[in-house]
Amino acid sequence: MRDERQTLTLHTISTSAGLPFGVMPRVATITDMRKLSDAQLFERERDYLLSANLGFPLRMTADRDLQQPFQVDSFTFLLTIHHTFPRRTERLDLPIRVYLVMPNEEELTRLLSGRRPWDIRHDAGGSAYLACEQGRFSLFQEYSRFSSGRAERPLSEKVLSHVRQWVRGVRCAIESNRKKYPHGTLPPSLRDLNRTVAPFSPAAVGGRAKYTDGRLSAGRKENPRCRRVVLSDRAYIQIYNESRARIRTETGGLLLGHYENGVWYVVEASDPGINAKFFSAYHEGDDVYENHVCGVISRTYKHPLVFLGMWHRHPGSLDTFSSTDDVTNGKYAVSAGNGCVSAIVNYDPDFRLTFYYVERGRQGEVYYTRIDTQVGDGYIANKEMMKLATIADVNERDAANDSRGR
Ligand SMILES: [Zn+2]
Repeated sequence: MRDERQTLTLHTISTSAGLPFGVMPRVATITDMRKLSDAQLFERERDYLLSANLGFPLRMTADRDLQQPFQVDSFTFLLTIHHTFPRRTERLDLPIRVYLVMPNEEELTRLLSGRRPWDIRHDAGGSAYLACEQGRFSLFQEYSRFSSGRAERPLSEKVLSHVRQWVRGVRCAIESNRKKYPHGTLPPSLRDLNRTVAPFSPAAVGGRAKYTDGRLSAGRKENPRCRRVVLSDRAYIQIYNESRARIRTETGGLLLGHYENGVWYVVEASDPGINAKFFSAYHEGDDVYENHVCGVISRTYKHPLVFLGMWHRHPGSLDTFSSTDDVTNGKYAVSAGNGCVSAIVNYDPDFRLTFYYVERGRQGEVYYTRIDTQVGDGYIANKEMMKLATIADVNERDAANDSRGR
């Protein structure tokens, strides 16, 4: 089964025959220092992939491109490292890429009930690959860092970790599309939500300011895509605890829950993980941890939670976003498919929470609407949202996954 997949892959992606790795002569020479260091970088990627033990053989094509098939859950991908690595390709493309293998783009669209998978691009031959420009990850930026010699880890490692996060997001979206609430009040799937509201256009929102002063809420026009945010008691105390625990610095995490009829219900809020970096006006989450904890928390519930957005602490009374925040918010808005929510925590001096709904325009501009927020389980009318999974629920879910060829 695995061999078939891999053969299919190699033929789809490259017309050159894949040679088993190791039969190629070593071509690096020591005469050119710059070449040597490029070759060393290339070898480091190869050594990393060999040691990562991804379950499929690493192969080298006749063009000396590296090809490494790998799996994340039930998804199969092909990581390619172009022979020009660490230099860009002849077409000036980035020399590292992750192609979709199984499911392919069409199958993925079907799994997402017709919604197009995000962050996908096509190469000159029409094969679909992950752009890896999503959430907090930007392959373009990572590559720039790498090229300027500021990355001490192999680029493949970062890319693989990002793909795991992408799969997590896709699986959340598939779950949320598939899950039906028994009481008739379905949380609209990403697709349904996009269908029932007019497509976002900056012209249609008229005078909506980029930033809305959160303290002047009267008369504010309601955003039909996010009319209100409701925080569970649990999510509220999670944000409070984490921000109190790191009172002198920024901190933050992810928000998980459901949306229903334009109301976004935040059921859980994560912390940023133990490897997150904290500075006074900046924090860098631990993506591996967040990805992990999102999955753990999500499947604890009868109706697995979906990714809604992020929260983070700001110094003093600053309750609008920085340009760095704009980038992160914009990426999350796109990856969630129908915008995201983003909350700022201030202590001035008391704990204060400001929620925004984030949308990204066609030119990459970011729009914010400040959203009224209620706190308390009592505001969550649909009690199904809060139900924990039973063993029977989990088994049923697993069986459904198995029947989908996990
Ligand atoms: Zn910020």
